[in-house]
Amino acid sequence: MIRFDVSALTQARLGTSLTLNVDTGPQCLDDLEVGFLCGAIQAIRVQGGILVQGTVKSQLGLECVRCLGSFDFPVALDLEETFQLPGTGTRSEGSYAVSDDDWLDLAPLLREQAWLAIPMKPLCHSNCMGLCPQCGANLNTESCACDRERFDPRWASLKDLMEQS
Ligand SMILES: [Zn+2]
Ligand SMILES: [Zn+2]
Repeated sequence: MIRFDVSALTQARLGTSLTLNVDTGPQCLDDLEVGFLCGAIQAIRVQGGILVQGTVKSQLGLECVRCLGSFDFPVALDLEETFQLPGTGTRSEGSYAVSDDDWLDLAPLLREQAWLAIPMKPLCHSNCMGLCPQCGANLNTESCACDRERFDPRWASLKDLMEQS
């Protein structure tokens, strides 16, 4: 579970803290699948809310932009966010809040941090060979004939010229 009962904190005095242990298997964070979530988060009662601080380790399933293979991408999600307590005025846009029955759900925050952790161009390995542009072979695991005779359109027209003369 990544939802926690924080009723012990909502009535507590400022500075009171609680450790939220996150330890799950595969999870679906809305539109994002993660292999696991693991970490210890500090939840601290602050003015008007609960501050959560800590790091959650996770693993995202990504697709390599070069070879299109899927691979596991380990990430460390740093959390530092104040969840507003119910009945403490209007929530600002995009802010997090404790539910009316004193539950704190870390899933939306973890999802947001996980999306931020995804690289612009995910690569399975920094030296991924990618796919052969002609036959589509995955050059990480196989070699193909066209690899040695690289097709270049400029060569083809030159060859035509030579054949004509
Ligand atoms: Zn790759
Ligand atoms: Zn090829």
